[in-house]
Amino acid sequence: MIPHTEPEYILKTILVGDSKVGKTSFLNLLQNNICLKTNTTLGVDFANLYFNINDTCIKMNVWDTAGQERFITIVRSYFRNICGIILMFDVSKPETFVNLKKWMNIIEYENICSHKHPILLIGNKNDLINNIDNNQLNKFISKYNVIYREISCKKQTPLEESMTLFIGTILKTLNVNDCNGMMTCQDSFRSSFSLKYNDDDDNDDNDDDDKKWYTASKCCILS
Ligand code: GDP
Ligand code: MG
Repeated sequence: MIPHTEPEYILKTILVGDSKVGKTSFLNLLQNNICLKTNTTLGVDFANLYFNINDTCIKMNVWDTAGQERFITIVRSYFRNICGIILMFDVSKPETFVNLKKWMNIIEYENICSHKHPILLIGNKNDLINNIDNNQLNKFISKYNVIYREISCKKQTPLEESMTLFIGTILKTLNVNDCNGMMTCQDSFRSSFSLKYNDDDDNDDNDDDDKKWYTASKCCILS
């Protein structure tokens, strides 16, 4: 991990899919493969990942449903203020593929932005026998216009290329002023500052506070 520069953008994303498809394993793999910091709270799995793409440092928050994927009302609350979705199924279990339709309904229903958010579809467990109908899969990919990658968390498939493509698509597709799930560093500092100090004025000349926030957010090179 090479400390590099401050993040320019902060992207909030969620990781969803049926129980046992490998979401927690995926989050762990991301954390182990890619330079990162983690914040884990009981009941909420959450990772902060730092990427350097074309010399722009990006911080991505990935929220996992932490075993609560069966409680739809709880899951719905995860969809607030996001700019991208990682949707996962298990290639050895066709029912988890069939259920993607249900996940897409939630994704579309919960979207309060005027645009669609980029989706990275992950077919996990490709170390096992693949029981998914290829035609159905291709239809799904083109119907919902998702990026698709097949991986094995068990075999530790490298994830840099998929994540770089996913982030690149978010940055290309969405505008930081229109999407609630994207913030610039300065916006994020302002909102945490006003929440913490209940101070609505936009006085961000306080160098000490700036310094505190920035020291907690170093970036590193992805290679
Ligand atoms: P979650 O419920 O979606 O968070 O799924 P978990 O990450 O807890 O994984 C469920 C089970 O699948 C665990 O026993 C994992 O060890 C296993 N698992 C996860 N990824 C893979 C994989 O790529 N291949 C295989 N064979 N098993 C996996
Ligand atoms: Mg889990």
